[in-house]
Parts: sequence; structure tokens; C-alpha cells
Amino acid sequence: MRDIIYADNAATTKLSRSALEAMLPYLREEYGNPSSLHSAGQAARRGIDEARQAIAKILNCSSQEITFTSGGTEANNQAILTGVSDRRSKARKHIVSTAFEHHSVLHYLKKLEGEGYEVTLLDIPADGVIEPRQVEEAIREDTCLVSIMYANNEIGSIQPIREIGEICRHRGVLFHCDAVQAAGYLPVDVDELQVDMLTASAHKFHGPKGVGLLYVRRGIHHANLLEGGAQERGHRSGTENVAAIAGMAAALQEAAGDREANREKTAQLRDRLIDGLSNIPHSILNGNREKRLAGNVNFCFEGIEGETLLLLLDRAGICASSGSACSAGSLEASHVLLAIGRPRELASGSLRLSINEDNSEEEIDRMIDVVTDSVARLRERSSMWHDRLTGRREYLL
Ligand SMILES: *Cc1c(COP(=O)(O)O)cnc(C)c1O
Repeated sequence: MRDIIYADNAATTKLSRSALEAMLPYLREEYGNPSSLHSAGQAARRGIDEARQAIAKILNCSSQEITFTSGGTEANNQAILTGVSDRRSKARKHIVSTAFEHHSVLHYLKKLEGEGYEVTLLDIPADGVIEPRQVEEAIREDTCLVSIMYANNEIGSIQPIREIGEICRHRGVLFHCDAVQAAGYLPVDVDELQVDMLTASAHKFHGPKGVGLLYVRRGIHHANLLEGGAQERGHRSGTENVAAIAGMAAALQEAAGDREANREKTAQLRDRLIDGLSNIPHSILNGNREKRLAGNVNFCFEGIEGETLLLLLDRAGICASSGSACSAGSLEASHVLLAIGRPRELASGSLRLSINEDNSEEEIDRMIDVVTDSVARLRERSSMWHDRLTGRREYLL
């Protein structure tokens, strides 16, 4: 990819050099099956063990509490199934989550509803930050699991995970946190956060796609999605993706080591971008301005279609997103923007630019220019916008 500005890091990130280098030996010479007893197998086994230890150090947990999965989606599914299946959850059929979780949580909860579970989805405050009090009030006698994300993938708002974890522990309810957008960018010490289960995915922090992890606190009985050869201590059958696991560990170590410097640099770029885009008339920033990921910018622009805006940006060499990548291609408004109370019409005119430390100030300024110009051009062509200009329709913003 040349001469493009990549601003879609919430969808996926570029593989880092150190992650690639950690992977190559397992793609070339160390190709043994880690379950094999011979030396080739044991070399691969060592690679997995070392990766698990390195990751456990960052999560501040025991390596035995980490299960490698095919990514965030699988880990989220398994966490929820584990939460409702644990012996202390027996006969309890109520789950608390939020209306703006990732679809890998929401759709799995939908499935459980069909199996007799009752799900309470917390309303989202306008700034996209859940109040711990909401969780306290939603927990009932029969609640077995609370599942709340660390940082939202569309609007970047950061949730008070530690406070929520304390409430869950106090009430004797298991707590799962989808930390896919947070891992590599925010501290993920599982004791500090007071979580029982935590999900991460390598490709969101410069690791390879198709690999993730599930942390499950000792003493909780895993429920399995896959049956087979009993790899991963019997929690996740299937021959391990050794190279990807090694790549994930290298990427997480690098991201954790550079976290503060990256955060500072990225937040400065983000603030420049937010300030620039705020000058577009009839626009609004989505998500809390302070409690947000350093790389997240998300706006609604009145009177335009997000998809059309994306096409214009792409033509100018800018990779961005409207709503979440998962619902791209369908014209459905983002469930996250609806959840924070944006009217459907505004929600369909949204733009997410997710940047990182590799973006430059020049790129930020170019994005501001192109977005400003594109929004103006799209409005010029819109009959609905004309109605607003002539007073036949009210502005929403
Ligand atoms: C990307 C993402 C997932 C899914 O992870 P995959 O590894 O792509 O399956 C889950 N939750 C959040 C918040 C995400 O951003």
C-alpha cells in the first residue's frame, strides 16, 4: 500500500516488524506440531510457552490462565459461554451487558436469549461512558454474568472497568471485559481491572489476524466451543497457530513497552484532527472528548451519507470507516451511534478516523482538508440540504 493515508486502525492495524520477525521462524524451519513429542514439535511448543509467559506478564496473570483463540470473536463467544456455564452461575439465567458492545458479544447474547437466558442491555449515556451505578442497579439475584467492553470500537469511549469490576466482585457475579480495542493501548492488568475474563485480539495491536486470547481467572471452569484434541489444556482444541501466537506476543510486548509515548503522540494528532473537523458546520463529535482512545475520531455530519463520504475519501487516498467495518456494505445505521441517542438520519452520516503514532501532522491536515471539502460537495448535491438552506426543514445540529 503506497501513497495512502491509513486511518482505519480500529478495523485492523499494520503488522509490526517485530511481530513479523517473531513469526518467520515458525513459518520456515520450526514447523513441527507442538503436540508432537519429537524435537521439532518441542521447538514449536517452546515458542507457544514463551509467548504465553510474555503475555501473562503484561496481563499480570498466570500463563495457565491464558487460552489462545482464533481472535476476538471466538474469545468473546467462549467467555460468555464460560460465564453462564460456571458452577456458580447454575440456575442463574440473567446477563447484564450494554447496547453498544461488539456484534461478537451482542449476537452471542441473542443466541442465549433463544435458549432461555434473559439479557439486560444497559442504555448508553450520550457521551458513550457507562456509569458504574447503572451496572449496580441492573444486577439481580439471578444475574450470572456481566460483559462490558473496555473501549468502544466505534466512538473510542473508555469505560470505568475497575469500578464495574469491584461492583461485580462485591455482588458475586462473574465479569467479562472485551478489551480488544484497549489491549496494547491501555493498561490491561487483570487484577487492577478486577476482571474475571478478558478478551484481546492481535490484529488490533499490530499483530497478525486470526489469533487472539481469552484470559480466564483460575477457579472458573472453562466451557468449550470446540471439541477435539484437547490442546490449550483442553480449553481450545485444534493445532495451535504457532507463528501467529508468537507474532501476537511480540506485538503486545512492543505495544506495551511503547504505550505511553505512542499514546502521547497519537493523542496530539487526534486533538488536531478533532479541532480541524469541528470547524465543519453542523457537525458533532461522537463520544466523550477526554475519556477516549488516543487514536479515535468519530463525527456525525448532518445532511450526508457516510458511505458516499467514504468513497470520496478513498478516491483521495484516505482509508477510513463509517460505523463499524462489520456493518459496512449494509446501509444500516450504526447500533453504537443509535445507542448514544443520535437520530437515525444523523447516524447514517458518520465518519470514523482511527489513527496511530505512524500518522504525521501533514496527514492529519490533509484529512481535515479532504473531509471538509467532501462534506461541502456532498451537501451541495443534496436536495435535503437545500431544504435546510431554504428553511423548509429544520437543522438537527
Ligand atoms: C475487532 C473487535 C472484535 C473482534 O475481534 P476479531 O479478532 O476481529 O474477531 C471484538 N471486539 C471489539 C471491540 C473489536 O474491536
